[in-house]
Amino acid sequence: MPFSYERVRRELLEEQAKLREQLKRLEAVEYDSVGYSNHMADDATDAFEQAVDVALRRKFETTLEEVDRALARLENGTYGLCEACGARIDRARLEALPRAKYCMDCQSLKEYKVKAVSR
Ligand SMILES: [Zn+2]
Repeated sequence: MPFSYERVRRELLEEQAKLREQLKRLEAVEYDSVGYSNHMADDATDAFEQAVDVALRRKFETTLEEVDRALARLENGTYGLCEACGARIDRARLEALPRAKYCMDCQSLKEYKVKAVSR
């Protein structure tokens, strides 16, 4: 299948809607369970569940931000360029991960927490 910006945009919009929905649901659950209930969160299970919620929410928020940024890049014509080095991101990578913001090289540098050495 040829690479299609239209398809990428559609996938990003779908992911954006899904993430917003999940965040909304997560928030609703939080208000329900935390709030002003009369048992404090000194219960280890509660604390653990809250930590999981927070981690999950942070993950959704980060992903949503990446999706938003990818959509913005589609608008301004810089989509598909690595945010770190400006190289063109491999199309197969974009198809697998439409919100990718780094090329493979920069991504692995980031993942291995290796400081990029200037050329
Ligand atoms: Zn790069």
